[in-house]
Amino acid sequence: MRTIEATSLEVTGVELAFGNNKVLRGVNLAVPAGHTACVIGPSGSGKSTLLRAINRLLEPDAGDVLLGGESVLRGDADVLRRRIGMVFQHFNLFPHKSVLDNITLPLRKIKQLDIEAAQSAARAQLELVGLAHKAGARPGTLSGGQQQRVAIARALAMKPEVMLFDEATSALDPELVKGVLALMADLAQTGMTMVVVTHEMGFAREVADQVAFMDQGVVVESGVPEQIFTDADSPRLRQFLAQVL
Ligand code: ADP
Ligand code: MG
Repeated sequence: MRTIEATSLEVTGVELAFGNNKVLRGVNLAVPAGHTACVIGPSGSGKSTLLRAINRLLEPDAGDVLLGGESVLRGDADVLRRRIGMVFQHFNLFPHKSVLDNITLPLRKIKQLDIEAAQSAARAQLELVGLAHKAGARPGTLSGGQQQRVAIARALAMKPEVMLFDEATSALDPELVKGVLALMADLAQTGMTMVVVTHEMGFAREVADQVAFMDQGVVVESGVPEQIFTDADSPRLRQFLAQVL
C-alpha cells in the first residue's frame, strides 16, 4: 500500500451523557499523524461512544475534537465524515448491492464522483484488500473476513485522513481474524492515523504506537505498549490485563 498524507487527531476533555448516564467524563487522547492508538478497556467503558463522538455520529456535550490541530465540532458533520473513515464490528454493508456497488455508492453520493471514476477507485481499493475477484458478488456470499475487508475498502476508497475501527474482528470466526488484523497492520504501516478499539491484545502490543486504557468514561492510563502491558501504573489496568491476558 502506498504511504498517505497523515493528519493528527486529538480528543480533549470530551464529555457525553445519554440522559443521566454520563458515559464519557472528560476523555483525553492525542494521536500524532501517522500513529496507531489502540483503545482497550472493559465492556461499557465508553469505547464505542468515544469513536462515535470523534466522527460526530454523537455530539459531545463538552470538550473538543481536533483534526490536524483544528476543531471539527463546529463545522459541517458531513464534511468531517469524509475525512474520517469508520469500520464497525458488523460490517454494515448493503446486503442487496454487489461488493462493487457497496464501495461506489458512497463515492458517488458523498464525493459526487461519476460512475466511471467511482468504479475505477473501487476496483483499485478491492485490489488492495485482495478481493478484486469478488466485485460482482453479494456480501452475503462472502466470508465474514472478506466482508470486513470490503468494509475497510469502502472506507479507504473515500481517502480518509483518519481511520476508526470499532472491534472490527469481534464478530469474526477465529480463523478469519488474522487476515483482517494483517490488513489493519498493513494500513498502519502506510502511515494512516488510526484509532483501533480492540480486544486483540497481540495486535495492540505489536502494531500500536500507543495504547490507551479506558474505564468508566475516561482514559485512565496510556503509553507505549511495552509500558502498558508490562509496567502498568493503574491498579484498574493491572486488574483488566490479568483478566484478558
Ligand atoms: P464500550 O464500547 O466500551 O463497550 P459503549 O460506548 O458502547 O461502551 O457504552 C458505554 C455506556 O453507554 C453503556 O452504559 C451503554 O449502555 C451506554 N450507551 C451506549 N450507547 C447508548 C445509546 N445510544 N443510548 C443510551 N445509552 C447508550
Ligand atoms: Mg463497544
